[in-house]
Amino acid sequence: MERSSLTSPAVVLGLLRQAGPLTRAELLERTGMARSTLVEKVEVLRRHRLIRDAEVRRGTGGRPATALAFDGTGRHLLVVDLGATHVTLALADLHLRLLAVRRERLDTFAGPDVVLPAVAVAARALLEDAAAAGLRRRPLLGLGVGFPGPVAPDRATLEEQTMMRDWDGADISGALRREFGVDVLVENDANAMAFGEHVAALAHGASRYESLLVVKVSTGIGAGLIVDGTLHRGASGGAGEIGHVRLDGEDRPCTCGARGCLGAVASGRALLAALRVRGARRLSDVVGQIGAGDPAALGAVRTAGAKIGAALANAVTMVDPDAVLLGGEVGRLPAFVAAVRGPLFELVSARTARRLRLDRTMLADDSAITGLAGLVVDARLAPDSVHAMLDSTG
Ligand SMILES: [Zn+2]
Repeated sequence: MERSSLTSPAVVLGLLRQAGPLTRAELLERTGMARSTLVEKVEVLRRHRLIRDAEVRRGTGGRPATALAFDGTGRHLLVVDLGATHVTLALADLHLRLLAVRRERLDTFAGPDVVLPAVAVAARALLEDAAAAGLRRRPLLGLGVGFPGPVAPDRATLEEQTMMRDWDGADISGALRREFGVDVLVENDANAMAFGEHVAALAHGASRYESLLVVKVSTGIGAGLIVDGTLHRGASGGAGEIGHVRLDGEDRPCTCGARGCLGAVASGRALLAALRVRGARRLSDVVGQIGAGDPAALGAVRTAGAKIGAALANAVTMVDPDAVLLGGEVGRLPAFVAAVRGPLFELVSARTARRLRLDRTMLADDSAITGLAGLVVDARLAPDSVHAMLDSTG
């Protein structure tokens, strides 16, 4: 059990992340380490730019004491959120502050052989933009990628895809690891969004958002679930794949090969198909028509929102979350939120309806990239990973 031993540098780092600046005496007391061992561990963490000196005042009066603190600014993270038609890239620090963000149009349907090299080029451009803006380059701690489809439990490769068949089994992690030389974590985009919203709620002191259902409605439909503060991925990584729940009395063919899926009748893709006769060519055209109050577009959105509200009712009653948050280009539209509200509150149990909140996501376009940054920090600074990282690079 060397890894979880109280002499590991990961223990020192964990204490500093959770308990804020601590003096050396406090660290010795909490870990039971010998003084020479602590000095050694502190030196390793400092070399890896994970801790810094700080001052603390204990009690009233007296001079500040020298302490050590977690340093969230000495390393950077790269995060990439792949959508169906665009990609968002960000450089973040370990406090999850987004230091630089870049959005580009990208046809993700073109498959990994085209898209992953394009992502690498865009990521290098982001790093150059950040440097040109005067941001000091820091070593990367890790890279996170959000994907709009099922991710394998290894969080490195993809499962069989329902929307983008060319990505079946793609090894996203391997391809980008070769490019950037750091560990790559892959997460479903709606899961990343849910984690980002959870982190944002915690940062605002909203501890009541411990259980959250976040539904992304964009080209497709997906959901992410936080239960008691933990992202729930399910037994096969398929939790939240509500786009392929089959609806009674619907028969439209879906991209997955089945008929009558929720995604076939209520997603951005379905809205675009319905509004094509009115000149909509892209999802942004649909959003524009709704914003302009076009009656046909509003009617289509009301129908889609109502179907999603009804489809969510059982899941919401089952999980009894603090809130249901709607995100994505379509999901965040006020007309869409209003359309979901009626059937959802009508069909959930009366007990759940009394305290349930339904709202738009708080972070707008930044939910998924913030969530990815948080997931990478948690994975890379987990005790086992810290141990391995410090061992392998001295
Ligand atoms: Zn389907």
